[in-house]
Amino acid sequence: MLGGVYLLETPSGSACALTNLFTKASPTAMSHLEFDTLAVRAGVERSHFNEHSEALYLTSSFVFSSAAQAAARFAGEDEGMVYSRYTNPTVKMFEDRLAALEGAECCVATASGMAAIMGCVLGLLKAGDHIVASRSLFGATVQLLKNLLGRFGVETTFVSLTDTQQWRDALRPNTRLFFVETPSNPLTEIADIAELARIAHAADALLAVDNCFCTPALQRPLALGADVVTHSATKYLDGQGRVLGGAVLGSDKLVRAPLTTFLRTGGATLSPFNAWVVLKGLETLRLRMEAHCAGALQLAHWLEAHPAVERVYYPGLASHPQHELALRQQRLGGGVVSFVVRGGREAAWRVLDSTRLLSITANLGDAKSTITHPASTTHGRIAPEVRLETGVTEGLLRVAVGLEALSDLQEDLRQGLES
Ligand SMILES: *Cc1c(COP(=O)(O)O)cnc(C)c1O
Repeated sequence: MLGGVYLLETPSGSACALTNLFTKASPTAMSHLEFDTLAVRAGVERSHFNEHSEALYLTSSFVFSSAAQAAARFAGEDEGMVYSRYTNPTVKMFEDRLAALEGAECCVATASGMAAIMGCVLGLLKAGDHIVASRSLFGATVQLLKNLLGRFGVETTFVSLTDTQQWRDALRPNTRLFFVETPSNPLTEIADIAELARIAHAADALLAVDNCFCTPALQRPLALGADVVTHSATKYLDGQGRVLGGAVLGSDKLVRAPLTTFLRTGGATLSPFNAWVVLKGLETLRLRMEAHCAGALQLAHWLEAHPAVERVYYPGLASHPQHELALRQQRLGGGVVSFVVRGGREAAWRVLDSTRLLSITANLGDAKSTITHPASTTHGRIAPEVRLETGVTEGLLRVAVGLEALSDLQEDLRQGLES
C-alpha cells in the first residue's frame, strides 16, 4: 500500500499534479462565483487520494524526481513545492482561498498579523522611505513602525485617521506608503479608504489597509482602491481563538515576489497546521461575521439606552459620526462595541470585575466575547494626556462580541452597570 503511494507520487514529475478547479483556472473563470461559494471551494487542491476535506501537509520539505527537477524548482522555473518555509500545499490552499475572498490576485501567508505588517514594509520599502500611518493603529503596529523600523531608516509620521488633510500635509517626496486600520480600535473611527487611496496615488505612494476588524466578509479594501491588504488571521479568520496567522494580499506584481522573498529569507512562515485551521475557519466566515455584527448592533442599542452609559461607539449606530461612510464602505458595523460608563476607572473596573461570562482579555475575533479596559491595558503605556486627547478615557470599555446568546451577555454586563 505504502509502496503504491510512493509510486503514485512522482509519475508526472510534479507535486502539483493535482486537480484544482479554482487555482488552476484563470481569475475570470472563478469571478462569477459568489463569496459563500469561494469561502468553501476556492483553493482546494486534492491529492491522488481525492480526500473531500482539505489535507494537512505536515512536511518540512518535498522530494524531487530528478536532479534536473530539483534544479528547476530552486531556479523557480518549475512551480512545485520545495520547502515549507515558502511553499506548502496547505498554506497555498489558505492563500488562494483568502485571495479569492479579498478579490486579490495574490496572497502570501505569514506567521502572524505582525509578521504580515512587517513583511509588507520590508517587502515594499527600503531605508530612506517614509510612511504615513494613522495614530490609532494596533499597539504593536505603532511600536513596529516607530521603534523597530525607525532604527533601520524607515520613518513614520502618525496622523489622524479621519482628517484626510493631515495625510496630505504629512506627504514628503520620499513617502512611499500609507498604512491604515479601519474601523479603529477601540473607538471604531472610520477611515475613508477610497479618499486615502486617491491621496496616496497622486503622490506615487501605496495604500495598505489592515483589514483585521472587518475581514473580506464586510469590507474589501482593494475594490475601494487600496493596493495592499494585511490580515491578522488570528482574529476573525480563525474565529475561535486557536492559532496565530497572517497574510498580505494585493496584485501579483506588487506582492508576490517581495513577500515570497521576505518569507524565504526572513522566515516568518505560517505553519501548515495553523494554515489548515484558518483555511477551515474561512468556510464559516460570513456566517460568523454576520452573527458577531448582529449581536454587536443589538448590544450597542441596549447600551445606548442604559442610564449608566455615557456614550457608545459603534459604526452601525445612527449616532456614530461616520455612520454613512461606514455603511458605504463596509457591509455591517463589525463585532466590536466600545462604551463609556459614568464614574471613570472605578466604575469601568466594577463592570469588568462583575462579569462572570465575558472574558477579561484584550483578544478579539473569538466565539467567546471579551471585555477590555483600554486605558489600563492596551493603551496603558500612552501618556495620559495623549490618551484623553484621542478619546481613550478612564470610563471606556471595549467589548468584542462573540457568538453567545445576547441576552446572557446583557445580563452579565447589567450586573456591573447597575452595581
Ligand atoms: C491582533 C492584531 C494585529 C496583530 O496580529 P497577530 O496575529 O496578533 O500578530 C494586527 N492588527 C490588528 C488590527 C489586530 O487586531
